[in-house]
Amino acid sequence: MRKTVIAGNWKMNKTPAEAETFIAELATKVKNPACEVVICAPFVDLDAVVKAAKGSVIKVGAENMHFEDKGAFTGEVSADMLVSMGVEYVIIGHSERREYFAESDCTVNKKAIKALEKGLKPIICVGETLSQRESGITNEFVAMQTKLALKNISKSDAAKVTIAYEPIWAIGTGVTATVEQAEEVCGVIRATLSQIYDDATAQSITIQYGGSMNAKNADDLLKMENIDGGLIGGASLVVDDFCTIINYCG
Ligand code: PEP
Repeated sequence: MRKTVIAGNWKMNKTPAEAETFIAELATKVKNPACEVVICAPFVDLDAVVKAAKGSVIKVGAENMHFEDKGAFTGEVSADMLVSMGVEYVIIGHSERREYFAESDCTVNKKAIKALEKGLKPIICVGETLSQRESGITNEFVAMQTKLALKNISKSDAAKVTIAYEPIWAIGTGVTATVEQAEEVCGVIRATLSQIYDDATAQSITIQYGGSMNAKNADDLLKMENIDGGLIGGASLVVDDFCTIINYCG
């Protein structure tokens, strides 16, 4: 059985003090979830989040990392640095990084390989723009992104990856994909994983939906066969909303 993973993506929100308060409250409210609970936080918050999450069920993730081990990459953070802090997950290829920071399928692949080499669990984001959806190329585009992200990644490493299907037009817009749209593309991703690896591997990989998932719509999305959790932006900034989503699992 594959794991359901509910992951918050705080983006550029919360100071370390705010992060600590949030995690302390979340830890008291989420004791025995039926899913893996992850908070992906800005680099400067990670130390506070790891310390506040200690002894709780909450796992910690970063929102990005560099694919090189070290060197002259001003402003960047390596996988070793994240691991040394107690970070377990890392978001790779979020559409905001692809759009604003020139992240490409090639760098996504390099980062995923490096994360796995260092023992981090990558959450790899894929998803189409509105114009791609309107042109009818969503399935092909997302399948291609999935293949490129996983290039040269072995079957055993692929089993440690989470794929987040995030239609770009649904991120931060308040417009959510319908359950049918989300399920169809998550099914395409699973079929692509089966093509690259095999059916058993494809069935074992967690595929999340992300894009304006919230306390009102998460229940229906999480009931779908191929949706194994959520990558949640806005609704992960409010403890009670995030808890409501977690409680829909199981
Ligand atoms: C995200 O940041 O990955 C995301 C899905 O954001 P939101 O839930 O706010 O749409």
